[in-house]
Amino acid sequence: MNNNHIWLSLAHLSGREQEFIQEAFDTNWVTTVGHNLDAFEQALADFLKNDSQVLLLNSGTSAMHLGLILLNVGVGDEVLCQSFTYAASANPIFYQMAKPVFIDSEPDTWNMSPEHLERAIKDRIKKGKKPKAIIAVHLYGMPAGMDELLAVANRYEIPVLEDAAESLGSMYKGFCCGTLGELAALSFNGNKIITTSGGGALVSKKKAYSEKARFLSTQARDTAPHYQHSKIGYNYRMSNIIAGIGRAQMLVLPQRIAQRRKNNQFYRQHLSGIEGIRFHTAPSPDFFSNYWLTAIVIDPEKTGGITREDLRLALEKANIESRPLWKPMHLQPVFKDCPYYGEKVCESLFNDGLCLPSGSILTENDLTRVVEEIGVSLKNSCNTKSSNKL
Ligand SMILES: *Cc1c(COP(=O)(O)O)cnc(C)c1O
Repeated sequence: MNNNHIWLSLAHLSGREQEFIQEAFDTNWVTTVGHNLDAFEQALADFLKNDSQVLLLNSGTSAMHLGLILLNVGVGDEVLCQSFTYAASANPIFYQMAKPVFIDSEPDTWNMSPEHLERAIKDRIKKGKKPKAIIAVHLYGMPAGMDELLAVANRYEIPVLEDAAESLGSMYKGFCCGTLGELAALSFNGNKIITTSGGGALVSKKKAYSEKARFLSTQARDTAPHYQHSKIGYNYRMSNIIAGIGRAQMLVLPQRIAQRRKNNQFYRQHLSGIEGIRFHTAPSPDFFSNYWLTAIVIDPEKTGGITREDLRLALEKANIESRPLWKPMHLQPVFKDCPYYGEKVCESLFNDGLCLPSGSILTENDLTRVVEEIGVSLKNSCNTKSSNKL
């Protein structure tokens, strides 16, 4: 049997990228202005709906950073941030010399817990400082419980910056992730649901936000014939060549979402009979996940002692890449002194959780190999189940 390396989440090109890149060269728009940028921004705005203003940037991290600047986060301010996430959600808080305050997840969506959020806000206010912003993440494509989070945010009038880097195409109550908060960041990194090799976007509903972000992302040049600056700027704009890749990727976005969701369905179908595996699952039809990555939790008490790490190593031996879930930010050495409000929800997800290969480029043969390998690993030591043939 074919034993090719199976990767977690690879870039998946549409085949039309070169056409749009060529167009940039043919028209000599080899810069941070041009038709590919305009067309990719328009395609994203049309996809997201809900009056979205889209500004393309060189990364999702840049979008998070500009988002915090637009929300006036500055030196010494506190920002409430989901702990269970990738470091790029939290690092920009430090770029602003502000202070992250980390919040635990709720057990069903795995995203920010509204109870712990409110507890944190009350406590920070009592300690003398009202937090300046909330960073809510839609992890692995699963929308956060936005009604509950926004109810808390609105009660204390704190704006929400959505980290929608993993959730392009996911929806909450029919609205796209990335259009639910005050501002949102998207990412087109190589492993995301669509890619430009590297890139991102800031999404907002206010033209004033996207205009200010455009100004800041292109070195904050004042209107003058010479170079004049009255604010500190950044070099964060996407290039028109890179935007050509994005234009081509937008043509296949619906297929990419469908394929990731199909992978997730395949895993559910074929692993449902195995004791001790629980899936990251939408809690109700209000939550539509793109299932960017299929994530499972292993309960060693039900697998005869086999842990997530045992399974990961067994898959690695079979040339299959899988990954532990994100290590919570409050457990990261670099953030160890930051306050944390919560219990152990995200910690136990980190201890027992695993992301399975999930790229839209995977074949049914690849998925079958993964499922068979998991079956072998978990059933070898689990004598209670023997009749579960694939
Ligand atoms: C990928 C990612 C980002 C950052 O995006 P880049 O484009 O890589 O800078 C931010 N947050 C989350 C949750 C991500 O997965």
